Amino acid sequence: MTYHTITFRSAIILLGCTILATVGAAQFPSAPKPLEPKMPQGVGGCTINKPCAEVAPDIIKKALGPSPLESNLRQLTDVVGGRITGSPAADKAIDWAVQAFRAAGVDEVLTENFTVPVGWSEGRTRLEVLAPQPFPVHLVSIGWSPATPPGGLTANVVDVGMGNEAGFKHAGESAKGAIVLVHTNVLKTWDDLMNEYYFEPAIIDRAVNAGAAAILWMSTRPYMLLYRHNLSLTGELERLPQAVVAREDALRIARFIAANQPVKVHLDMPNKITEHAASENVIAEIRGSEKPDEFVILGAHLDSWELGTGALDDGCNAAMVIDAARAIRASGSIPKRSIRFVLFTGEEQGMLGSWAYALAHRTELDHMDAAIIFDSGDGKVTGYSLGGRKDIAANVTQALRPLASFGPFENTFDSDMGTDNLDFLLEGVPTLVANQEPDDYMMNYHAASDTYDKVDFAQLKRNEAIAAVTAYAVADLPERLGPRQTRKQIERLLKTTGLEKEMKETGFWSLWVDGKRGRQP
Ligand SMILES: [Zn+2]
Repeated sequence: MTYHTITFRSAIILLGCTILATVGAAQFPSAPKPLEPKMPQGVGGCTINKPCAEVAPDIIKKALGPSPLESNLRQLTDVVGGRITGSPAADKAIDWAVQAFRAAGVDEVLTENFTVPVGWSEGRTRLEVLAPQPFPVHLVSIGWSPATPPGGLTANVVDVGMGNEAGFKHAGESAKGAIVLVHTNVLKTWDDLMNEYYFEPAIIDRAVNAGAAAILWMSTRPYMLLYRHNLSLTGELERLPQAVVAREDALRIARFIAANQPVKVHLDMPNKITEHAASENVIAEIRGSEKPDEFVILGAHLDSWELGTGALDDGCNAAMVIDAARAIRASGSIPKRSIRFVLFTGEEQGMLGSWAYALAHRTELDHMDAAIIFDSGDGKVTGYSLGGRKDIAANVTQALRPLASFGPFENTFDSDMGTDNLDFLLEGVPTLVANQEPDDYMMNYHAASDTYDKVDFAQLKRNEAIAAVTAYAVADLPERLGPRQTRKQIERLLKTTGLEKEMKETGFWSLWVDGKRGRQP
C-alpha cells in the first residue's frame, strides 16, 4: 500500500473493519514481556550516547557505504518472492527478517503473532470468450475475491462505462446476472492511484445492487500489465467475484459490445479461501541509554502481493529498515530512547499487523514517541507527512537538521489511512510517513513487474540515511517529539485532516466509534 495525499489518498485504505468484528475470533497475544536491557555489542567502540549532530555523519557513512542491503533484498524478492499475508512465502519472509536483523547486530529480535480472519490464494483463473467469437483474454483475480461457483459461471458481459450511476442506469436490467465490465483511467499519479481505492467501493455497491454476478475491472496499466490489490476495507472477502483484465483485452471486449455483437463468456476463478490465517510482525530493538522504556518505531511492511516479488511495495523499505538498524548499530552510538525496527505483515489486507501491534502494546503507548513509516517505494524522500500534527513540526525540523545535505525537506500536514501509521495516529501517537517522489512506482504498483530490477539502490541508500538519522534524532531529542493526544484531540484531528470523512465513506468510522481501533473512549 502506498501512502499519500489528503482525502483521495486517504481513501485508499485497506481497512480491516470487520477484521475487528472478528477480533473476537482473531487471537491477539497478551502484552509481550518487556525486553531485557543489554549492553550494546556494537562495533567500533560503542559510546553510550553522542549528540545526534555528531553521530549523524557516521550513520550516513554507514548507510551509503558497502552493506548487505542489495543481497538482503535479492533474498527477499528473488528467493522468497511475492509474500501474501498468511502464505508459506510470508512465513519464509518472517524468517528472513529475523536472520537479517540478527546479522545487523541489534539488541533483540522477536516476532509477535496475530490472526487475520481470512486466508486467500488465487486458483487457476480463466475466462473463455464463447460469443461472438473466441479470443484470448488475460486476467487475474483481485485479492480477497471470493471464488466463482464451482465450475465457473457463464454470462453476458455488460459494459457499464466508468461504473458510475449513469453507466449502471444505461445498462439497466441487462446487468442482472451479468458480468459487468468497468472502464478505468490509466494510472499516472499518486492521486490516480488513490482514486483506484476511492471510487471503487461505490462501484461495487452499484454492481451488487444491480444483481451482477461478477466484475471485470479494466487494467489501469497498458501493455497487458496485470496487478492486484484488494478493494475491501475490512480484510474480509469481497462481496462479488472480481478480476482485473488486461487493458487491451478489455477494450477489445468493449468494442465488440459497442458494435452490437454481444459478448458471452465463461469465467472460472477457483480461489482458495481459508478461515483464519496466522501471521507475525517482526520487531527488533536497539535499547536506549537513558530512557530505554521510551521508544520510537521505524517501520515498513513485509507482506506483499505475489504477481511480482514486492520489491518496491514494500520489500525495498523492509530491507532498508533492517539496514538502518545495522547503520545505527555500526555507528557505535546509542540514542537516549530505544528504537524499535518493526516489519509489519497484513498491511495489504488492512494494516492488520500494525493494528495488532497497537492493540498488543496498548499499555506501552504512553511511552511511544513516534511511528516513522516508509511505504512509497524507493523514490526520493521529499519530507514527512506529519498526520495533521502541527505541534510536532518544529521538533521534526530540528531532528532533520543533520540531514540538510539530503534536503530541502517539505513536511506536510496531510493525513492518510494508507499505511501502517494509521493505528498509531488513532492512538494519539505522533506519526511521520515519508513523502516520496513517485519514480516508476505507479506502473509497477502491485503488478507482475514489481521486481528487484526496478529498485534504484543509490536512492534507496540515501533514503536509508534519512530514515536512520531521523529515527536516531527523534529517539535522542532532549524532549519528546510531542505528547500522546487524548481521544478528544484525536477526534479534532480527524476532522481537521479530513480523515473523519474518509473513515465514514470507507465504512471505517464504526471501528473508531466502537473503540475497536484507536484510543479507547
Ligand atoms: Zn505498501
